[in-house]
Amino acid sequence: MAAVKGFRDVLPEESRRWQVLETAAARILGSYGYGDIRLPVLERTELFARSLGETTDIVEKEMYGFTDRDGTPVTLRPEATASVVRAYLESGLVHREPVCRLWYAGPMFRRERPQKGRFRQFSQIGVELLGRADPLADAEMLVMLSQYLEAVGAREASLELNSLGDRACRPAYREALRAFGEASRERLCGDCHRRLERNPMRLLDCKVDACREVMASAPLVLDSLCGDCRGHFAEVRRLLDRQGVAYRLVPRLVRGLDYYCRTAWEVVAAGLGAQNAVGGGGRYDGLVAALGGPDVPGIGFALGVDRLAMVLADGEAIGRPEAVVLPLGDEAVGPAFDLATRLRAAGLAVGLEPAGRTLKALLRTADRHGARRAIIVGEDELRAGRATVRDLERRIDRPRALPFAAPAPDLVRALRADAEVATS
Ligand code: AMP
Repeated sequence: MAAVKGFRDVLPEESRRWQVLETAAARILGSYGYGDIRLPVLERTELFARSLGETTDIVEKEMYGFTDRDGTPVTLRPEATASVVRAYLESGLVHREPVCRLWYAGPMFRRERPQKGRFRQFSQIGVELLGRADPLADAEMLVMLSQYLEAVGAREASLELNSLGDRACRPAYREALRAFGEASRERLCGDCHRRLERNPMRLLDCKVDACREVMASAPLVLDSLCGDCRGHFAEVRRLLDRQGVAYRLVPRLVRGLDYYCRTAWEVVAAGLGAQNAVGGGGRYDGLVAALGGPDVPGIGFALGVDRLAMVLADGEAIGRPEAVVLPLGDEAVGPAFDLATRLRAAGLAVGLEPAGRTLKALLRTADRHGARRAIIVGEDELRAGRATVRDLERRIDRPRALPFAAPAPDLVRALRADAEVATS
């Protein structure tokens, strides 16, 4: 029996990278004051219809929804911002925390056409900041994002930035775009004909070559920003420059969802092919009010865990055991087991093999695990009360270097002594 199309298992060699991503999120986002929120994966369909906009691809054709037995239409969440805002309103956080910072991680569901890097269940790590409208909030979030990408070693991830205007200036831009598109209507695809009527901003998002050619000379949103939006964007950029955060201005960048305004961005990574966006975000000042709350501004981003995991620089090294303990005979099993347990209790990733094979066979296994060192427990070692450490990378032995009975910190030091010598 196979998994459902577009749904997949994440096996340990990959999930180790997910753990790196999630652990770094808890640490770095936590250090900026973000609290971890655990959300349900099922929501009322109405939540997404109201928050994402009826005319987005997601709501029109990508949602996994069904009618619950009591007649309520429900949907597996395609993204989590709407859920965060619902929880923020429903729990009363909106009244208790004038500025509220939340982060989440978990699966999202969209019925897109599966391909490399695109799944129907995928995972995101995201943050939402509610209650701040000032440009410092935007800049701080982008600095946090770039610090995160650097910490996890996301290879060649780069930031693309734009401003989408707000309630004051966007309607006029949208109309200008519609008029521009209408003038070349016959050259646009069927989807774009629909966008012309219902969501002209998305004309800029079409992947069809002919449409891209037409839209290449479309008016730019940056040229039609009102004074307030212009000032806000200039300050965001000034603060980013000050912090040394590199970005590329991409005036045609639009976000898929209707509720974005002002600062919007995407993170793209090299080496991923067509699906090269590893994350995106932006400001959404009207969303809380659209969901029945007060007029609270918001800003946030989501990172695609499946795609980020593919671009971690030293992904190969993650999860490699520091050592594997190899007992050479039955009488070595007990002491080898003790040693492994004590090293593991001291926080080291350590493997343990059963006895009954030759040293050569055992070393081959240790190599297969990618271990840096083997800890050999044979007859000589048992007699001396000290195990031999073999550096598997440099192929050198340190005979009887590891005293079985030493206190844990000494044990760890003795095990790593070669590395210290090598790096000092
Ligand atoms: P979005 O919520 O569309 O802005 O998506 C944010 C990030 O989630 C994207 O940049 C991708 O990295 C990831 N993502 C979105 N859709 C998918 C998908 N179908 N499969 C895998 N990752 C996805």
